[in-house]
Amino acid sequence: MALERWFRRKRPTRGDDEVSPAGLWLKCAGCMAQIYRKDLIANLYVCPECAHHERMPVDARVAMLADEGTFELWSGRVTPTDALEFVDTEPYVERLVAVQQKTERPDAIITGAAELDGVPVALAVMDFSFLGGSMGSVVGEEIARAAERAAAESRSLISIAASGGARMQEGALSLMQMAKTTVALEALSERRLPFISVLTDPTTGGVTASFATLGDLVVAEPGALICFAGPRVIQQTIKQDLPEGFQRSEFLLGKGMLDDVIPRGVLKARLAVLVRLLRAGLDGTADDGAAAPLRLTTESITTIADELDESAATSAADDADEAAAAEDREREEAPNRATPV
Ligand SMILES: [Zn+2]
Repeated sequence: MALERWFRRKRPTRGDDEVSPAGLWLKCAGCMAQIYRKDLIANLYVCPECAHHERMPVDARVAMLADEGTFELWSGRVTPTDALEFVDTEPYVERLVAVQQKTERPDAIITGAAELDGVPVALAVMDFSFLGGSMGSVVGEEIARAAERAAAESRSLISIAASGGARMQEGALSLMQMAKTTVALEALSERRLPFISVLTDPTTGGVTASFATLGDLVVAEPGALICFAGPRVIQQTIKQDLPEGFQRSEFLLGKGMLDDVIPRGVLKARLAVLVRLLRAGLDGTADDGAAAPLRLTTESITTIADELDESAATSAADDADEAAAAEDREREEAPNRATPV
């Protein structure tokens, strides 16, 4: 009897409640170190040992980016349907109901208005825990609506991608979202409003091939897998060994596919600077308020790069000044102290 009970006992999993001993500690996928769950959360889901960026839950992502109390939810009124009556190992409708109950949202995205260091923006954040963040009709529609509403309210759009690609259970309907999201972004372009796309681990398939790589700036978190077809598929096709770091953020930055790789700890601050600079540059050139297409020229990119360098140099100089001042203060406060050698 006791043995039977032991077999029936539910195995603890990674997602179990925090009070269970198994949920208290996590193993870092980067360095295999045991990390206290609360430490990982406090460090924005970045390993304190090796800086490996774990996947971040959507709510935590919104809390990290939006100024406190400024987030206003836009999404959630469109719900997915099973137009193809699709069944694989289980019916699509059943999969949907289960994951909707687990995540408490209708589909794999949330969008809304927020302020980012005081700058009005629209956020579109994908949820990888919802059927692999796959883009079906609802995700496409929410992105399109967010882009159009952002344009109407003069907000810059920031999207955070985390997706396995198109949702296969919706067949061709999911592929149509690639065209829909692409067209919707034109509304921002016409109003000369910046769209910054942030790619996180993983960003693949139809999401990479549509809105996620169409940002005026496309940036990524460190170590993120970003691709159309994954490395295993490519390796099996070309039957060759792939270079180290293939399809990861840093590799793609070197190849010119990304504009920057930004660690999560400074993501909010950097996004705020980039949005401000883009808006300042673009507002300055708009003379009659007419809808001219947004064009980033080499000149404007150079100006932005110079301003970023300048701000980095200023903060470095400030740090140096502060260090010198602190040293002076220390010397004044302890004039009789022996000089260290
Ligand atoms: Zn680690």
